[in-house]
Amino acid sequence: MSIETTIHRALNFSAGPAVLPLSVLEQIRDELLCLPDVGSSILEISHRSGPFGEILEDATSRLRRVYSIPDDYEILLLQGGAVLQNTMVPANLLIEKNQTADYILTGAWGQKSSRDVQYFGKLNVAWDGANEGFVRLPQSDELKFSPHPAYVHYTSNETIHGVQFQTPLSVNQAPLVCDSSSDILSRPLDISRFGLIYACAQKNCGIAGITIVIIRKDLLQRSGDRLPLYLDYAKHAAANSMANTPSTFGVYVLGLVCRWLEETIGGLDQMQSINEQKARMLYQRIDDSAGFYVGHARPADRSRMNVVFTLANRELEPAFLQQAMSAGMISLKGHRSLGGIRASIYNAMPVEGVQTLAEFMQDFAEKNG
Ligand code: PMP
Repeated sequence: MSIETTIHRALNFSAGPAVLPLSVLEQIRDELLCLPDVGSSILEISHRSGPFGEILEDATSRLRRVYSIPDDYEILLLQGGAVLQNTMVPANLLIEKNQTADYILTGAWGQKSSRDVQYFGKLNVAWDGANEGFVRLPQSDELKFSPHPAYVHYTSNETIHGVQFQTPLSVNQAPLVCDSSSDILSRPLDISRFGLIYACAQKNCGIAGITIVIIRKDLLQRSGDRLPLYLDYAKHAAANSMANTPSTFGVYVLGLVCRWLEETIGGLDQMQSINEQKARMLYQRIDDSAGFYVGHARPADRSRMNVVFTLANRELEPAFLQQAMSAGMISLKGHRSLGGIRASIYNAMPVEGVQTLAEFMQDFAEKNG
């Protein structure tokens, strides 16, 4: 006897963990009991097994191909989230305690990243947007770099404040380190501009429990012999990301998402144009609302991943969220530190989903304006 279930999936605007491509979820479902030709589930096989070796190789080579990662960069698949990178970056890249790292603070995540530097060296805040409420990016002449920073860190997309750099920061004096957690794989990127890029996976590349680190190989030397096993990039690189048991399921899902990007979307140029189209729809709705909706970020610095706004009449926000939910749209509530509304429209959110939200916004404004 077969049991029929009707599955109604909501439009999920969560900031992360976030929506996955439906075809990826379907493949996970179809293969969950038994990977083809393996006889066991991905949840059950050893990370040292041949089949998992192939899954790891497939995921990293797809990631390298889709992002055009040059050969002189290592790809590490770690655990501990992007937050552990707040520790690992200064631990590895500051060789001595009297060295300085420069941080550009364009939102809450950059602020959080900068706090761990004190354990390993000196922090220079090259720019801080906190006093203005993190509504904009700095102009290049506002950046106050230290004379010889060991590296320069910035956050390409601030998930809470909805502020995003559209091109890599221009820095010549030191390796550039980027937290790309909430915009990784959302557009083409010249990886050679960076010393190190890191990102948690649960927004654009799969599920929580796996963190991607792309590091230029010469920087692996900086840690020397100082660090315990798990904190040392060089040891992870030498062990091919298997210094301990990796998130086997996370690696598998990363591979499926990269395959979807390559084969269904057609690569990062296409992904970028889809993402721009989605963001345009929502920002246009905000800008055409005669002040009913108020965007958080300065228009030039707006994120294409997290659209952050309030209603001019803040008392209407609970009704907005409630009615959106009744119409099948979930997780639109802004971060607890900022309130308001946040629509996260990562790679896997389809254009039609954003269209539905844009129409709802227009309708809500007409009825309540
Ligand atoms: N950096 C950014 C930009 C993020 O959005 C997040 C998660 N929302 C993190 C870091 C932290 O990631 P995790 O919780 O996986 O450590």
